[in-house]
Amino acid sequence: MGEIVCQHISKAWGMGTADELLALDNISFSVNSGEFVVIIGPSGCGKSTLLSMIAGLEKPTSGTILHNGEPIKAPQSDRSLIFQQPSLLPWLSLIDNVAFGLTLKGMNKKERYQRAQHFLSEVGLRNFANKYPHQLSGGMQQRACIARALCLGADIILMDEPFAALDVQTRYNMQKFLLDIWEGTNKTVIFVTHHIDEAVFLADRVIILTARPGRVLESVKINMPRPRD
Ligand code: ADP
Ligand code: ADP
Repeated sequence: MGEIVCQHISKAWGMGTADELLALDNISFSVNSGEFVVIIGPSGCGKSTLLSMIAGLEKPTSGTILHNGEPIKAPQSDRSLIFQQPSLLPWLSLIDNVAFGLTLKGMNKKERYQRAQHFLSEVGLRNFANKYPHQLSGGMQQRACIARALCLGADIILMDEPFAALDVQTRYNMQKFLLDIWEGTNKTVIFVTHHIDEAVFLADRVIILTARPGRVLESVKINMPRPRD
């Protein structure tokens, strides 16, 4: 289960310096467990800042973020952040990338590799386990990042313009792929983009932010039939 509640979140960068900049201003919204929410807004309105606070990488200047009712204090493997550029370790094979974090969870080697292979298969990379990231296309690398997040037990997948670097056809394939994964797993997804078409295609609900400092302009329920072909 993965519920997120943001209560009156503000974020100022460089507090108390001449460069102080208010990135987000009094943001409140909640995301239900299993919901697919897209956050959209103009460049620089604080979308990445907001995601990194939900991930636990940055702290709000004021306000509280709750994950299943508990305040977020630090990054945790049940909230996984996926960036525009795939973040695989270049010196590890795909399966080692996906299994990497499991070592920390004290799982034995056999279990780790079985689990990693299972999630690579889930994202259509069953036959690529021993390849290295540079041997794969951008879309395949992003799928491996999604496999890693699922393998580590993410309940909440945070995605920061994950398909922006891909060509149009691949982006569309990845959007459909992500919806399939989401429908099959019932994970919570919070997805940031500045493309309205991508937002409407993917979301259950779109949260629209104003230009910086980002404020919630509107939260719009999308009623598109699924599956979307
Ligand atoms: P978006 O993702 O909507 O494009 P960002 O969250 O990246 O917006 O940035 C919001 C504002 O905060 C921008 O003006 C950006 O320059 C600033 N900003 C982002 N990260 C930092 C940082 N680490 N330090 C200082 N300013 C930052
Ligand atoms: P991208 O998503 O970046 O466009 P694709 O997933 O389309 O990349 O794949 C790039 C290449 O790898 C294509 O030639 C495709 O046929 C091949 N490929 C991708 N996934 C698989 C797979 N599961 N099995 C076999 N070949 C694949």
